[in-house]
Order: sequence, then structure tokens, then C-alpha cells
Amino acid sequence: MKLNIAVLAGDGIGPEVTAEAVKVLKTVAKHGGHEFTFTDALIGGVAITAEGTPLPQKTIDVALAADAVLLGAVGDNKFNALTPDKRPEAGLLAIRQHLGGFANLRPCTAFNALSENSPLRPEVTKNVDILFVRELLGGLYFGKPRAWNKETGEAHNTMVYTKPEVERCAHIGFQLAQKRRGKLTQVDKANVLECSQLWRATVDEIAPQYPDVKVEHQLVDSMAIHLMNRPRDFDVVLTENLFGDILSDESGVITGSLGMLPSATIGGKVNLYEPVHGSAPDIAGQGKANPLGAILTAAMVLRHSGNLEEEALAIEKAVNEVLAAGHRTGDIAGQGKSANVTTSEMGDLVNTA
Ligand code: ATP
Ligand code: MG
Repeated sequence: MKLNIAVLAGDGIGPEVTAEAVKVLKTVAKHGGHEFTFTDALIGGVAITAEGTPLPQKTIDVALAADAVLLGAVGDNKFNALTPDKRPEAGLLAIRQHLGGFANLRPCTAFNALSENSPLRPEVTKNVDILFVRELLGGLYFGKPRAWNKETGEAHNTMVYTKPEVERCAHIGFQLAQKRRGKLTQVDKANVLECSQLWRATVDEIAPQYPDVKVEHQLVDSMAIHLMNRPRDFDVVLTENLFGDILSDESGVITGSLGMLPSATIGGKVNLYEPVHGSAPDIAGQGKANPLGAILTAAMVLRHSGNLEEEALAIEKAVNEVLAAGHRTGDIAGQGKSANVTTSEMGDLVNTA
């Protein structure tokens, strides 16, 4: 298998955690006889410093020529005085637009060794394995008209979806459910919103094409409760932009730390893979960052861009083993406890597990 991976390490802890993810990918390549090539490019604050812009054309070219883009994190307080369109974060928004992915995948996996870090009881979180598929380019966040009229004190936003936008995202949800446990939960507010009625009807219309997938619909308010009460009952959770944003963050409670969460954005020209956490400037450059979110993101590269399911599972298993053996960075050490490994030690442990 050949994979050309663009590496946009970015700012803060981005380079530290991305280095560990690349290390793991190189090990996988070596063991499996795969040919992975890595091309580094600048994004965010480091790109502003070097090139005067958060997303240089060279970076866009490297990303569009790649089979997958692996991103670290973007954001540096040093540039807070700049207008939003010039700041590091503008580079992230722009690269997402260039790549065009519309389905954001966020796994919510309970690592049983970390169950004491969740405020939920271990018997609730044990073995949870949910994959959120969040529509990323439509809905309330982008709909027009939108305005806040400060004179009249009136503000409005518009939720818009077209059937093709729902269909393309739903197909991804169904296909992922087929490869997993065969269950798709579509989340909406169909008792109030027409957009939700469109989602529900479209998913039902597509469902017969996937006879091996069991479909259910949930209202978003009850889903918020079900996720905390019985998260094990869910496999793929498909939903629109706003609801997906809220529910996937809520489910972070199950996993424990932000530092453990991977993500992928697929469906566009090139898939974009990034850990959920940001640049964490408070701990950057100190070997304190948890690289497991980035390493699990590397597993997603293998699964979704390389079709290397076995290799992806091997990485996830290695992460589980390292956690079960008690290795912890500060963010997952637990109340009142401190880290017993550095960022690169954690990466090495996964590499040799
Ligand atoms: P951004 O705006 O870039 O998303 P943020 O402040 O919203 O940044 P993060 O930078 O992701 O959020 O992190 C918030 C805090 O969580 C950090 O300051 C850090 O202490 C902790 N954190 C985040 N990621 C990690 C990680 N990988 N390892 C350890 N701690 C982390
Ligand atoms: Mg943030």
C-alpha cells in the first residue's frame, strides 16, 4: 500500500504530538511492507512567522497532492492582536474549505483503563464504541440570511439543508455502519424542524439500499440523555452540523480527556485528519502533551485513507495496552496524580506494544 501523507504539524503541541503519530505510521509501514511518504508543510502561526500568511499556497498544493492530510493543531496567542482573518485559526478554516470534506467523523471510544477519569460510572462507559458522523458544511452555521440588528434588537440565523447534502452524508453513515456493528442512529428534532423532517425522510428513503443496517431515529434532546445513560447502545450516530457539534462534545465525558480524541473529515478532495484538541499553548514544548489523540488519528488515516483496518486496529490495541499498563501523561493521570511518561515516551511505548 502506498500513501502520500501531508503533515501539517502547526502550532503549540501540534509538532510534538504529530511527531509521535508519524513515528507510529512509520512503524506500521515497516512491518507491513507499506510505502508511506511524508511531506511537511506549514500552517497557522508557524506559517505566519515564516511566510506572512496562515495558509501559504505551497501548503495548499502539498495538501491537494496528498492521499491524506495529517494536521497537528493551530493557534498561537502571540497573534491575538491580528484580525480573525489573519490569525493562525484562519489557516485551519481555509484548509478545510480547500479540502472540501463534508462528513466529520468523531469516534467516542471508552478506554477501560481510564474509566475512573469519567464522572460516569464504569459500568455505563465500559466498552463504549460510538462513531459520530457530523455533517460539517451545512445547517445553521452557514445558512443565510443571518444577522444581528443591534438597533432593533433582532437576530436571526437560517437552517438550510438540501436533499443531496443529506444524502451524501447519510451514505457515509450507512457505509460506516456496515463495516462496524450495523446500527445507524439518526438524530434530529423532527417534531419541530422541517430540516429535521428532511433528514429523517431522506435516511428512510436510502435505508433499503443497506438492508444489513438497522436504522433508528432519536430526537436530539432525548439523545443527549441516552448518551449518558446507555452509550453502549449506539454504533454510528448520524446528525446535522449543530447537533453533531454538541453531542460529540458531550460524549467527550465518556472518554475522559481531550488529549485522547481523534477525528477525520472525509468526503471532499482529500481527507483531513486531526486530533480534537487544540494547540494547548500552556503545555507546549515541555513534553507534557498526550500524543494518543494524534496517534489514534493516525489509525484513522490507515482505516479511512489506506483501507488498512487491521493496522488501524493494531494501533488502537497498542494504545489500550499502554494505558492498561498504567502509563499516563498528566491529562489522564487522574485527580491529584501526575504524569509518569513524557510525550515521546508515550509514543515509544505505543510503538513497541
Ligand atoms: P484551541 O482554541 O486551539 O482549540 P483551546 O484552548 O480551545 O485551544 P486546547 O488547546 O485543545 O483547547 O486545550 C485546552 C486545554 O486542555 C489545554 O490548555 C491543555 O491543558 C489541555 N490539553 C489539550 N490537549 C491536550 C493534550 N493532547 N495533552 C494534554 N493536555 C491537553
Ligand atoms: Mg478550542
